[in-house]
Amino acid sequence: MEWEYRFCPHPDCVVDFWLVQPSQQHAPLWHLTDRFGERHVVVAASEPICPSCGSTLCDVKDQHSSDDILKPGALYDFVRSLS
Ligand SMILES: [Zn+2]
Repeated sequence: MEWEYRFCPHPDCVVDFWLVQPSQQHAPLWHLTDRFGERHVVVAASEPICPSCGSTLCDVKDQHSSDDILKPGALYDFVRSLS
């Protein structure tokens, strides 16, 4: 199972993105690691959620450079349009 990049859509959250992976043994659990690999968290939820603010972490599509990540305005608007 590959780690996936997910970002936190909350505008005030200091954690911008995480690597997430569903638990193989104990669904619905998610393993989360911050982008520096320094903080490891397990959350119990059907979707991966931000350990800092509780927002559902959003999928990052077409992530090829950090420039794509650092556009919170456009991404946030997009995410909000889905809900
Ligand atoms: Zn957050």
